[in-house]
Amino acid sequence: MQQHCLILGGGLSGKAAERLAASLGFSTAILSDSPGLDADAAVAEADLIVTSPGMKPLVSPLWQAAMRRAGKGQCEFISELEFGFRNWPGKLLAITGTNGKTTTTELTAALLTAAGVEARTAGNIGLPLSELAADLREGKLSPDALPVVEVSSFQLERCDTFAPFAAALLNLESDHVDRYAGGFAEYAAVKQRIFDRVAPENRVYGLSMDSPVPRRVTLYGDALMIDEEEVLIDLGNTALSAVHNRENLAAAVELCLRVLPLETVLSPEFRLAIHMFQPGRHRQELVCEKNGVRYVNDSKATNPASTVAALRAIPGTVVLLLGGLDKEMDFSPLAPFADRIRFAVLYGECRAKIAAALPESIPTADCGMEFERAIRTACDHAQPGDTVLLAPACASMDMFRDYKERGDRFAAFVKQL
Ligand code: ADP
Repeated sequence: MQQHCLILGGGLSGKAAERLAASLGFSTAILSDSPGLDADAAVAEADLIVTSPGMKPLVSPLWQAAMRRAGKGQCEFISELEFGFRNWPGKLLAITGTNGKTTTTELTAALLTAAGVEARTAGNIGLPLSELAADLREGKLSPDALPVVEVSSFQLERCDTFAPFAAALLNLESDHVDRYAGGFAEYAAVKQRIFDRVAPENRVYGLSMDSPVPRRVTLYGDALMIDEEEVLIDLGNTALSAVHNRENLAAAVELCLRVLPLETVLSPEFRLAIHMFQPGRHRQELVCEKNGVRYVNDSKATNPASTVAALRAIPGTVVLLLGGLDKEMDFSPLAPFADRIRFAVLYGECRAKIAAALPESIPTADCGMEFERAIRTACDHAQPGDTVLLAPACASMDMFRDYKERGDRFAAFVKQL
């Protein structure tokens, strides 16, 4: 009899899982939580349940019904990432961490491509691994392709065989605490699962973390060294010279060294690819400079640690725009930068919590839920030499579709002013 695959969540991951399940011969259905839905009845026919990362375990009736059914041994309940992995016959690389995942994923893929590898970015970055697996099954992708998979903590839930050939954990800071009953400790434990089935020598830890395994890539001043012998690159001449991007580059090169010979990593093509690489939009992006004030869009700074990375990378005094969705995060890491923050403009759902965490020495304005007022207020307080910095330390979905819309609105309004 035909097996039935039920997919939870109908976004990109859900649709990709459905495509893959159909190509494997399952009958399929996609469901999302809705008021009045009998969740136990809805999952009753499923032999396999695949969940999208957007489903929220603590509050989703469908997720909880899937857990009950799987707990009785009546079905398997796995994540979309696990489903894609089970149907990907070759090697893959994986990257997680609180910050830097997308940059490191893009960087790793760019470096591998320069070395002649058919690298494909996948996962949280926008193309679910199930999509690549379906492409492969349908002959639309070469079996030589090497996925470089950006992995979020959400995707690591409900994985039981996911085994990247090599993986990187870039850093672990306060984020998404609202998703886990066990708070930060549980979030951190889920992230570390990326290594569960990775050989110790292929586990890469970001430079800011203790590494239980020896590193091949180290930094001496601006020089990125391999095996403490070869200087790969002088970071001063690249777009990756800030501390956080050094961490990303070091991890990307470590991953490359797991699949490429040393000579290839030291080749001119590989070095050129490092020189050419530019981090993506909305990541400490200079919008414009006017009357001696720089305007920087770092809308992708969706947690306090990424805002700290921006404060470290940007010299001088800043007028900082902070606020957004409340993920129960700890904002105290911003406090040590009090002498660098001329003024903080607070807006969005989380503004009162941020105000409570900032030292009293930082003057603030509360702009409610009005983003344009917040930008105008920030501009009014900037003095020549300052940077007006949108690095909100929060997700954007209280007021925007996503961080891109927030960043675009900031850039457009600043240019108009
Ligand atoms: P992610 O995919 O994990 O969100 P991104 O590469 O998109 O990571 O960067 C998100 C934000 O974090 C940006 O504001 C960026 O400037 C900052 N960032 C990038 N790499 C790091 C890092 N290694 N440590 C801290 N912040 C970082």
